[in-house]
Amino acid sequence: INSGIAGTGGFMVDILEIVKDRDPQEREFHQAVGEVMESVKPVLDTNPIYRQAKIPERLVEPERVIMFRIPWADDQGNVQVNRGFRIEMNSALGPYKGGLRFHPSVNLGILKFLAFEQVFKNALTTLPMGGGKGGSDFDPKGKSDNEVMRICQGFMSELFRHIGPDTDVPAGDIGVGAREIGYLFGMYKKLRNEFTGVLTGKGLNWGGSLIRPEATGYGSVYFAAEMLATRNEALEGKTCLVSGSGNVAQFTAEKLIELGAKVVTLSDSSGCIYDEGGIDAKKLGFVKVLKNVRRGRISEYAEKFSSAVHTEVDPANDTNPIWDHKADCAFPSATQNEINAQDAQNLIDNGVFLVSEGANMPTMPDGIDIFKDHKILYGPGKAANAGGVSVSGLEMTQNSMRLSWTRKEVDDRLKLIMKTIHRTCVDAAEQYGHPGNYEAGANIAGFVKVVDAMLDQGLV
Ligand code: NDP
Repeated sequence: INSGIAGTGGFMVDILEIVKDRDPQEREFHQAVGEVMESVKPVLDTNPIYRQAKIPERLVEPERVIMFRIPWADDQGNVQVNRGFRIEMNSALGPYKGGLRFHPSVNLGILKFLAFEQVFKNALTTLPMGGGKGGSDFDPKGKSDNEVMRICQGFMSELFRHIGPDTDVPAGDIGVGAREIGYLFGMYKKLRNEFTGVLTGKGLNWGGSLIRPEATGYGSVYFAAEMLATRNEALEGKTCLVSGSGNVAQFTAEKLIELGAKVVTLSDSSGCIYDEGGIDAKKLGFVKVLKNVRRGRISEYAEKFSSAVHTEVDPANDTNPIWDHKADCAFPSATQNEINAQDAQNLIDNGVFLVSEGANMPTMPDGIDIFKDHKILYGPGKAANAGGVSVSGLEMTQNSMRLSWTRKEVDDRLKLIMKTIHRTCVDAAEQYGHPGNYEAGANIAGFVKVVDAMLDQGLV
């Protein structure tokens, strides 16, 4: 990095240009950096020390990138080769912490954006965790259990030498759930010959925490409830759009239903369902078996329940039909960039006045601008979905203390953490002249905590 560039007039443009010049193909990473740097400009302006210490330049460069080959044999005996990655982004606040994603779209740019977001998210949780992210371009769809086990073992046979309970503690993300964490943990234990809390999201009977599977979805709903409370409103009776049908979507829907809201949508990468009658606990039970056990498609929901219609993904359609229904609240919980500007406008036109992001960076920048222009309650992913990593942090604490907290104990701590994150965002946004802007608040509060620790620790 040419460290002489940033710190002059057009700082934002300069730092983004540096990042783009260096890695022009990493679009999602550019997007995440642009969003954070825009928000923290007032902080940089009032604290010249950050620019003098080249903090922005240091933040956009991972501390370490590990990239490796995973050769494995499929059930027919054919040799397959996938790529494995781990981005160790920033360890100013603690061991690297962040999920592993198995999805064919996985590449360095996507993982760097996720790792970059994770750094600030983890700072917001109040727990001592740095930020990282990893994964593979392996596509779990249609793979047998044995094939999944072999890729997990292949992945860990390289990763094990880079991670550890005080170094780097991965967790799940898209395509990596309880089954995959089990296989990854088993291989780590075998290679290291030690049983430690090196992964979170573990099974309950071998070191996992109660509420970890629920935490991201529940946390996103708790964050939404906090935002609503600022307008003297509650979730009861609200109509809600939820996208995705994986871990985050399922538990978002579960908590919404429990709190008396009406959930009318779910989706997967093939399409979405709209159930006018509402998805109740029983129907959600069907979805859990469909997705977690049978690993089927969400279209089966509409075959099972006549109150629902399924709309297939149409590559010719620029907008996502899931966001075009009358509702009060939206919980994007599938993947990045699932809400473009037109989708955002559709949400507003349909009466949505709250968006709580269970997914990471699901809204594109011009969509966020529309939310901000309409002054809706917009909870960005790094705040709204921080419940998952928070309970991962609690899992690490329980592991190192060698004890297990009750469901209520963990849930109470999760609620308190989400409340604290909400308050932190509100206060930081107000302090820097953006009242009510959770995006600015989350970016600023996370940034300040991380960079102050970096300054304390010197040039490392
Ligand atoms: P899962 O793999 O359990 O579920 C992902 C869901 O999103 C599936 O329904 C999947 O459909 C759908 N999906 C994935 N990719 C696409 C795509 N390109 N287009 C449309 N739909 C897609 O993952 P999670 O629920 O764990 O993760 C969902 C989001 O939440 C991600 O953004 C993740 O980073 C974020 N997150 C997750 C946390 C966690 O604790 N798990 C913590 C914080 C954030 P299909 O089955 O067809 O692939």
